[in-house]
Amino acid sequence: MDTMTANDLSHVVDADRAHVWHHLVQHKQFETGEPRIIVEGKGMRVWDQHGKEHIDAVAGGVWTVNVGYGRESIANAVRDQILKMNFFGGTVGSIPGALFAEKLISKMPGMTRVYYANSGSEANEKGFKIVRQIAHKRYGGKKHKILYRERDYHGSTLATMSAGGQDERNAQYGPFAPGFIRVPHCMEYRKHEQDGAPDEGYGVWAANQIEEVILREGADTVGALCLEPVTAGGGVITPPEGYWDRVQEICKKYDILLHIDEVVCGVGRTGVWFGYQNYDIKPDIVTMAKGVASGYAAISCCVTTEAVFDLFKDDSSDPMNYFRDISTFGGCTAGPAAALENMRIIEDEDLMANTLVMGDRMVANLQALAEKFPAIGDVRGKGLFIGAELVTDRDTKDPMDEKRVGAVVADCMQQGVIIGATNRSIPGKNNTLCFSPALIATADDIDEITDAVDAALGRVFG
Ligand code: PMP
Repeated sequence: MDTMTANDLSHVVDADRAHVWHHLVQHKQFETGEPRIIVEGKGMRVWDQHGKEHIDAVAGGVWTVNVGYGRESIANAVRDQILKMNFFGGTVGSIPGALFAEKLISKMPGMTRVYYANSGSEANEKGFKIVRQIAHKRYGGKKHKILYRERDYHGSTLATMSAGGQDERNAQYGPFAPGFIRVPHCMEYRKHEQDGAPDEGYGVWAANQIEEVILREGADTVGALCLEPVTAGGGVITPPEGYWDRVQEICKKYDILLHIDEVVCGVGRTGVWFGYQNYDIKPDIVTMAKGVASGYAAISCCVTTEAVFDLFKDDSSDPMNYFRDISTFGGCTAGPAAALENMRIIEDEDLMANTLVMGDRMVANLQALAEKFPAIGDVRGKGLFIGAELVTDRDTKDPMDEKRVGAVVADCMQQGVIIGATNRSIPGKNNTLCFSPALIATADDIDEITDAVDAALGRVFG
């Protein structure tokens, strides 16, 4: 454990309570309760200010620490790089920037260019700006609309919230940017909530709903479609059979760029490098963040095809002829240095193969729990990106209430197991327990996590 004394840590808690504004938290609770401080991490485990050990089933809370905590080789790679050259921004390149781009592109056939930024939101904004600039350069500004899907999430900035498919997260922050248009979700488990959804062929039907929106808006006004390959915070939604083939046909037919948000799925989480590679998708723009450097440094990337990049190569006198965008900290070298080592670890330790095996084990364990607890309505996922949706009744599929879902999460926490629940802020829709352990998880780790869920479900619903 950490060398800080109990007194030092109590000072940290006081300082935190007095001055830190936590993400996603109603601070009133800290007037009586204590904020949780995570002091140390190693492998799959973290320790809090009281020295209590937890196994982390959500990779740093938000699907991020893919290679686990305490990786010395990443620390060394970052240390060596920042002592040599930590930052130069603007128009120049860097050694790790070039080498990581080369490595990344080697895993993404069809893609060629990497644009560096810092967060998932920012990478998505870069994608949106690329689409907007193409609209101005080629279509007199007309083909500028960006389609996004109900339940998907693309970030916390105002433009990415304008493309946000989770209304309750957005309610207090409007008005939003114009030109972002919503398409219906593709969640087979909840298709009964969609008028006209068929028993057979739901995937093609759900994709056709996108075409209807395009025709309603006018195909000549739609520049891009931005989708998560597997929806994360919206409920761990795996796409239905036939969906992605039809989506791609539609994009081709109407000359619409396909922007895939890999912020969660990217870099091994689903057992392949990128979630889109599970579905034979050929994107034009791919954004990624969380797993790129497993949280050892802040880095995100907006990756494009050469065809997209070529649209910005131009020797006209137009001052708008290049991508007039900058991200100051896109010039930090810690990010690509960490990312390069992160990718080496995933390859050398064969973590994607492990992800597939452990993902199957976790799904099987949760399915066994579903036999025991009717509250589990659906278990779904890809690799180590798994959700278990809780319902009050399997026939009506009415979502379990927030309090009882929260009680399951809190009970696991009490047992020293950190799990998540998606869509925290959406009443009636935050009913999916979420599991995304680091890709290093062992069979014992997986069983420890699902045993805790078993005990928690027993106490809450038993
Ligand atoms: N896209 C997806 C799919 C996400 O889940 C998130 C974050 N949870 C983002 C984008 C935004 O990333 P960030 O918080 O790094 O801005």
